[in-house]
Amino acid sequence: MKTLLNKILKECRPYIKQGRLASYIPELLKADKKEFGICVVSADSMDFAGDYDKKFTMQSVIKPLILLMALMDNGEEPVRQLVGVESTGKPFDAFNYSDLALKREHINPMINTGAIALCSLIKGIDYRKRFDRLLELTRKLSGNPELEVDEQVYASEKLTGNKNRALAYMLKAYGMLEDNVEDVLDCYFRGCSIKASAVDLANIALVFANGGIDVKTGEYMFDKKYARYVNAVLMTCGMYDGSGEFALNVGVPAKSGVGGGIMAVVPGRMGIGLYSPALDSKGNSIAGIKALELLSRELDLSIF
Ligand code: GLU
Repeated sequence: MKTLLNKILKECRPYIKQGRLASYIPELLKADKKEFGICVVSADSMDFAGDYDKKFTMQSVIKPLILLMALMDNGEEPVRQLVGVESTGKPFDAFNYSDLALKREHINPMINTGAIALCSLIKGIDYRKRFDRLLELTRKLSGNPELEVDEQVYASEKLTGNKNRALAYMLKAYGMLEDNVEDVLDCYFRGCSIKASAVDLANIALVFANGGIDVKTGEYMFDKKYARYVNAVLMTCGMYDGSGEFALNVGVPAKSGVGGGIMAVVPGRMGIGLYSPALDSKGNSIAGIKALELLSRELDLSIF
C-alpha cells in the first residue's frame, strides 16, 4: 500500500500547478502549494505518504461534524426540518436563490448556509460552549486530543467573512435562524479553523465508514443511522458542485475544504485523508481529487 500511495502522489503532483490557493480568506494564501500528503486507515492498518502529518485548517471538512453533532443533539427530525438534503449545483457560498423566499429545500448541510444554520442546533449554554463541544467531538473521532484552532486563520476569516455574514442574515430574514448572527458565525468560523492533518481526517472518516464505531478500540461513538445520514449527504453534496463528477470517478462519500483537505469514507473498508492546498475552480483540492481517482481505480473503491 505504501508503494502505491507514493506512486499515486508522484503521478498526481503535476496537477498542482493547474490549481490555486484559496485567496478569499487571506491567511490561506500562506499555504505551500507543493505540499501533498495522503493517509489510508482501516481496522488493522495505517499507511501514509508525502506530507501526511502536515497541519492545515479543516474548513468545510468540519461540515459533516456539524451535521453529526446537530443529529446527535436533536435527532433527525429537527435537522430535516431546518435544512434539506438536495444538492444545489451551485458554489458552496452562493446566495443567488431564485425563489422569493429562502426555504429549507434550497439548502443542504454541506453548503455554508446549511452548515451555519445547523450550528444553531448544537446544544450548549452559549456559542463558545457549543464550539467547545464540536471541538471535543472532532478530537474524539480523530483520536487526537491535541486538535486546536488556528487562531490566525480564524481571525482572518472572521475579519473578512462578509459573504457568510450575508448568508447568515438571510437565514435570519427568512426565519431560519433565531440566535445572534455573530455568535452563530463565531462557532462556524472557529470550526472551519480547526487544524488537522491527513491522518486526522482519515481517522474521522474511518468512524463514518464503520457506522459510528471506532473499529480500532471497539468504542461506540454515535448511532449507525447518523453515519448513514451523513454519508448519504456527503455522497450527493460533499464535493461542492463537483459532487456528480466525483461520484462517477471516485464513487465514495467525501468532503473537501478550501484549506486543501479531503476526507473520504469507504463504507465498511477504510478512511482516507488527503492534503494538497492548490484548488480547482470549484474549491476542491485538484491533485487530491486526482489521487482519489487513481486510488479508487486501483483498489476498486467505488460503492456503485
Ligand atoms: N470557512 C470557509 C467559508 O466559509 C469554508 C469554505 C469551504 O471550505 O468550502 O467560506
